[in-house]
Amino acid sequence: MSADCIFCKIASDDIPAKKFYEDEEVIAFHDIRPIAPVHFLLVPKLHIGSLAECDQAHQDLLGKMLLLAPKLAAQLGLKGFRTMINTGREGGQEVFHIHIHVFGGGETLPKI
Ligand code: 5GP
Ligand code: ZN
Repeated sequence: MSADCIFCKIASDDIPAKKFYEDEEVIAFHDIRPIAPVHFLLVPKLHIGSLAECDQAHQDLLGKMLLLAPKLAAQLGLKGFRTMINTGREGGQEVFHIHIHVFGGGETLPKI
């Protein structure tokens, strides 16, 4: 737990979020500023600043999160989705607690 981290506070229920999945290691909740009809975040309970701070010790956790993405997306009715991990300020990251964005549900997403 990092004292000033908003996602740590969501993980510990200190601030509310539209959480729809939780297990001992991971939570998923809807993004507060969605950029698609469905837009959720997959977040480990463990505070890790970004993907660039991960190492071998996080391999299982990262794998678990990636494998959860399609399961949760399907539960929310998505037939396809896009995942995104912004890393570092130059990568567009604003919240420095690693998270996977999962979004979809509208028109076919534009090619990037
Ligand atoms: P980043 O730019 O770091 O990859 O993405 C951070 C995401 O977290 C943004 O899409 C932003 O809308 C979302 N976010 C920031 N603060 C909160 C919050 O308090 N609650 C929820 N549900 N989402 C948040
Ligand atoms: Zn955190």
